[in-house]
Amino acid sequence: MSSPTDLPPSVRRIVDEIENEIGESDVAADDIAGRADRSAAAPDNGRVEAAVEEILREIGEDPERDGLVGTPERVHRMYTELTAGYHVDPERLMNGAVFDVRYSEMVVVKDIPFYSLCEHHLLPFFGTAAVAYIPRGRVIGLSKIPRVVEMYARRLQVQERLTQQVADFLQTRLEPQGVGVVIEATHLCAVMRGIRKPGTIMTTSAVLGLFRTRDRTRAEFFAHLDRPAPGA
Ligand SMILES: [Zn+2]
Repeated sequence: MSSPTDLPPSVRRIVDEIENEIGESDVAADDIAGRADRSAAAPDNGRVEAAVEEILREIGEDPERDGLVGTPERVHRMYTELTAGYHVDPERLMNGAVFDVRYSEMVVVKDIPFYSLCEHHLLPFFGTAAVAYIPRGRVIGLSKIPRVVEMYARRLQVQERLTQQVADFLQTRLEPQGVGVVIEATHLCAVMRGIRKPGTIMTTSAVLGLFRTRDRTRAEFFAHLDRPAPGA
C-alpha cells in the first residue's frame, strides 16, 4: 500500500502548505505517519522522462545537447509539483477551520491569485479568483479559501470546472445560503498560439443558492468585485 511519504519531498511540501496553516506543519507531520490512504505521486519509473525525451526528438531537437540533458527530469518534477492538488486531502485542509457563528451577511474574499494548467494543451492559465458566500450558521477560516482555490488549481483544469469545483466545495462543506465564485484568467494557449491577442481575459462564474435566485445578492457580489481593494 502506498503511503504519503511516497510523495517526492517537493510535492509533499506543497501539499502540506495547502493543507496546513503556517506554523501547523509540525502537528501535520506527526499525523502523516498514521495515514496510509494518501495517494502517491506518479511512480518514479522513468516513463515521463522517456516520453519528454521522445517529444524533444519529435520536434527536431537533440535531447543529448547540454541545455536539454536535464530537461526530461526537470519537466517530470515540475508537472508533479504543478499537479500536487490531486494529493491534497480536503478533510485536512478544512480541519478545525469551520466555526459556528451567527453571521448571515455576505463574506467576500477576492484577488486570490492562482496558477493552473489547461488540460487541453498543458499550458498555464492564471489570474485571480473571487469567492463569496452567505453563511447559514457556519463560517470557514478566511485563510482556507485561497487554499481551496489552490487545491483545485494545481491540477489539469478547464477554467469553467475550476470555478464550479470551488463553488461546489464550499456549498457542500458549509451548506451556506449561497456561494458565488468569479475567476478571471489569461490562457497562454490562447495568447501564444495563432492570432495573438495578449491581454485577452476569460471570465467564468458559478453561482449557487441565493446568488443564483436573488438578483440583489448577485448584484451585491458583483459590486464588491468592482470596488478596488484597499491600498490598490
Ligand atoms: Zn488550452
